[in-house]
Amino acid sequence: MLKVKENIYVKTASEIQAIRESGLILSKLHGELSKRVQAGVKTLDLDAFAEEYIVSNGAKPSFKGYRNFPATLCISVNSVVVHGIPNHYSLKDGDIISIDCGVYYNGFHADSAYTYKVGTVSTDAQKLMDETYTSLIKGIAKCKAGNRVGDISAEIQRYSESFGYGIVRELVGHGVGRNLHEAPEVPNFGKPGKGPKLMEGMVIAIEPMVTMGKRTVKQEKDGWTIKTVDGLPAAHFEHTVAIVDGKPEALTSFDYIVESQKVNYNG
Ligand code: MG
Ligand code: MG
Repeated sequence: MLKVKENIYVKTASEIQAIRESGLILSKLHGELSKRVQAGVKTLDLDAFAEEYIVSNGAKPSFKGYRNFPATLCISVNSVVVHGIPNHYSLKDGDIISIDCGVYYNGFHADSAYTYKVGTVSTDAQKLMDETYTSLIKGIAKCKAGNRVGDISAEIQRYSESFGYGIVRELVGHGVGRNLHEAPEVPNFGKPGKGPKLMEGMVIAIEPMVTMGKRTVKQEKDGWTIKTVDGLPAAHFEHTVAIVDGKPEALTSFDYIVESQKVNYNG
């Protein structure tokens, strides 16, 4: 692992392989969770399942204990954007829930989030989820050697805002590796051609957080939960992406979710 700039690490092929393996455990976990996201299920139960799944695969939950976060999953329901703490809330038909998870395996983290629907959701909520997913895919396409972080940021912002959605400013994507959060920051807003240069071997988490209404958010008293101020829903999709042969390679996948749900998010 070569440190090319302050805290920006370029990974070797074997280090990227290690993250790929962490990512595989995480992607399969998302597939299992997608079967369990149903009305009546408590978010705490999803968290218990995830912790057991990760540990039984010889890995560790990246989030549990990170800055004293108490759980394996961040579960963010409806107007919660990110960092929701699993609790006794039972999912209801029509909810949308973002599940964010990190897996630490063989010394490396992978980080991935997906917004699931519970039963039948409103047309507006479905569109928010679909377009947030698409903004992630469009952002990933800009993750090429020689581009800059701002190319990813600007693309996600341009696409999401074209629907009148809000892009959260307070939280950003990030480098991933031996640490869950490394440089560079990867905002979901910005200007093309600006920011750190993207290089072969960099691994970053790209994670648009998109609000149906205004982009302003507030933090709850628990010190974690981030909600929209206007109470409208938000969506969050995230992949861990490496630059291999100059091109983006997602080291996490939604394929197992697609297999479970037969929905059309197979980026
Ligand atoms: Mg995440
Ligand atoms: Mg992340």
